[in-house]
Amino acid sequence: MLRRAGVVLAWLLTGCAAARAPDVPPTTSALAVRREVTLARGTVHVLVEHDGDAAWAEYVADRAAAYLPAAERYLGVPFHEAAAVMFHDLPQPWTVRIVGRRHVALGDVHIRAYNNTYGVFGPDRGIFVEYSIAPIGNPAVVLHELTHDWFHGKGAALVPGAPRDDDEPAWFIEGLASMTPIAVADAGVMVSSTDERHAMRAHWGQWAIPPVSMDVAIHHDTRKEGGIPIFYGKSYRVQAILAHELGGEGYRALLQSTARHLPRSNDDVLALLHGQRADEDWRALLSGWVFDGPYGRYRPADVPGLVPER
Ligand SMILES: [Zn+2]
Repeated sequence: MLRRAGVVLAWLLTGCAAARAPDVPPTTSALAVRREVTLARGTVHVLVEHDGDAAWAEYVADRAAAYLPAAERYLGVPFHEAAAVMFHDLPQPWTVRIVGRRHVALGDVHIRAYNNTYGVFGPDRGIFVEYSIAPIGNPAVVLHELTHDWFHGKGAALVPGAPRDDDEPAWFIEGLASMTPIAVADAGVMVSSTDERHAMRAHWGQWAIPPVSMDVAIHHDTRKEGGIPIFYGKSYRVQAILAHELGGEGYRALLQSTARHLPRSNDDVLALLHGQRADEDWRALLSGWVFDGPYGRYRPADVPGLVPER
């Protein structure tokens, strides 16, 4: 695994979630829901803290408990192997700590959700998420964050001064974090209702692509330029394009190889795609989406599979 310890993750935006908690303050225990989850390499505890909405916490805990074993099975990489860098200094069994809040900010940035499992944003470790973007029935944000335990980013693009790497293919990592839970559900590896799968696709597909004069390719990570909707909307749609091009098993194979060898540059991503289909010009296919240039085979209006039939 190519996870560089010491580097951190990043995440943002609408959500990211997955975390753990070493020592949970006793004061929070009355407003928390717990689950014990058996995974391939051991047990983890899921702890969801809330401010009184126990039904919300029960829902989030149940979805997290269903997703973790399904994701490790789908991706072919055990959670304990994938997430070792996140829980680097914590004894097992790990606690995946998810904290619901009405307002989630990092410094001056209203970030709405973030993943501080690693601890780079201070000692309060966990996944923090606003209730309003993670309502009951829509697990998109919580599962996006949990997916970062397999697909780590580095550097929080929205946080001034946070470590970041201009070569990092954030568009790929963030898109994977959004699409993987949907792919896991679509493959039947995780039980998920039609309404829930619809809600997840609608969540990430909600951002329209802006008019041509304001549209930009996202290889340079537009989040730091105020282009959050563009970045997350396009990074998700890129995954929809790749899933359509590769088909269910081909897309799963791409995710599995990515989970084993996390790409650190755009060239790494193109190599992964080439490994799935060598006769495709992937850079041209992603022109306009990721790389500068006109749209090619897929224009914004005709991305397949954005929202499933109900
Ligand atoms: Zn993220």
